[in-house]
Amino acid sequence: MTDFRKNQEIVLTIEDFTKEGEGLGKVQGFPFFVKDTVIGDKITAAVTKLKKNYGYARLTSILEASPDRVQPPCPVARQCGGCRIQQLSYEKQKEFKWKQVAGCLKRIGGFEEIEEKMEPILAMEKPWHYRNKAQFPIGHDKEGRPVAGFYAGRTHTIIPNTNCLIQDQCNERILETILAYMEKYGISSYDEKTHRGLIRHVLTRKGFTTGQIMVCLVVNGQAEGLKGLSDLVEGLRKIQGMTSIIVNTNTEKTNRILGPACRTIWGEDYIEDYIGEIRYRIGPLSFYQVNPVQTRVLYTKALDYADLRGDETVWDMYCGIGTISLFLAGKAKQVYGVEIVKEAIDDARINAAINGIDNVEFFVGKAEEIVPAHRERTGINADVVVVDPPRKGCDEKLLDTIGLMNPEKIVYVSCDPATLARDCRVLAGKGYEIRKVAVVDQFAHSVHVESVVKLTRTGL
Ligand code: SAH
Repeated sequence: MTDFRKNQEIVLTIEDFTKEGEGLGKVQGFPFFVKDTVIGDKITAAVTKLKKNYGYARLTSILEASPDRVQPPCPVARQCGGCRIQQLSYEKQKEFKWKQVAGCLKRIGGFEEIEEKMEPILAMEKPWHYRNKAQFPIGHDKEGRPVAGFYAGRTHTIIPNTNCLIQDQCNERILETILAYMEKYGISSYDEKTHRGLIRHVLTRKGFTTGQIMVCLVVNGQAEGLKGLSDLVEGLRKIQGMTSIIVNTNTEKTNRILGPACRTIWGEDYIEDYIGEIRYRIGPLSFYQVNPVQTRVLYTKALDYADLRGDETVWDMYCGIGTISLFLAGKAKQVYGVEIVKEAIDDARINAAINGIDNVEFFVGKAEEIVPAHRERTGINADVVVVDPPRKGCDEKLLDTIGLMNPEKIVYVSCDPATLARDCRVLAGKGYEIRKVAVVDQFAHSVHVESVVKLTRTGL
């Protein structure tokens, strides 16, 4: 038992930082997690939760600020569930992410002296306004005015904010136009509790290379139910780059933002964008990388690590919309891609076609089932394997198959350094060694860490 109680004020110095971006400090040896803090901050905090061996507390004041602390430029950075580490200088964010990859590869992977193989972090030049896709929940405030913003951490309370600093600047005018329209025509917002009201979300997407913009209103009903819709369209059309205005119908009681049916009410059904030389068609339901500038950096690094000569057979496992597959296709003989989501593969095939790429074949299904079956059926192995799995990492059966395929090189693109390290250890047991590691910052002010590792067959 501890002597602390809830709401008690404590004074502590932050000594460590968790991978979720919470500061950690001790009071009489008892550890507390405090969000919105930075290593080196001396703070007061109020105890919010007590467990047997640790507790949580809420920052109440900063007695002495750490030299690494910055004033978050976003006025709602603390309330909003989006940016968790805006209070940490970007220089330190970069260090935090790099060290996290190094730490996991050492601790979990058992790779001593991994730092020697790690390149300096590939960070953003301008760590603001980098996202090309935004999904704003819509509600009404206590005065009955429509509001748009983001959810507070772990809740569905909307923090009004039409000027999110990590989103594209076009969003502010789009949201102001939509909110003014809702006010003028008395359009209701959706209420999750009563399942009533019309507008649920506003989804926006922008092609950073082409400048094309898509606005998608997610409605608990049909487009016909929206009074004065042509007035809204007139307002939105004036925004430079507007290419597509869509109404998506979602009448389900669900946390899923988009429903299955879309109707284009003005312009095109999709927008287009480029990553490198490759052109992509993006609909409201399509997957697409949300930071195209850093995605290009990441995939250029993956291509560099694959170091293709032109005569290779390549597997791109967990291929999504085939971004990496199409990137590699120009430098390889044949690329195979596998992905579990059918709609992503539909997009991958369209994207291959509009780019005139015909040496790529895509499969829908679980990588751990499709790849061994393909190998069994065709006898085809791979010279190079690229994997880009979700956070949970690669399925063990897939790693076994990769071992049997015995590729020269494996390029592992990862969004979770812990599972990356675990899987690299497995691959090391199958005769592979880590040659190079790159950390790429795709999501400044969040704790997400992307990295890419080059492994080659030992002795090569
Ligand atoms: N490289 C991709 C993104 C990969 S994200 C791109 O550029 O678009 C990881 C992908 O793995 C997701 O698209 C997810 O749907 C897919 N996935 C998850 N489990 C899978 C499995 N068992 N087999 C194949 N794909 C899977």
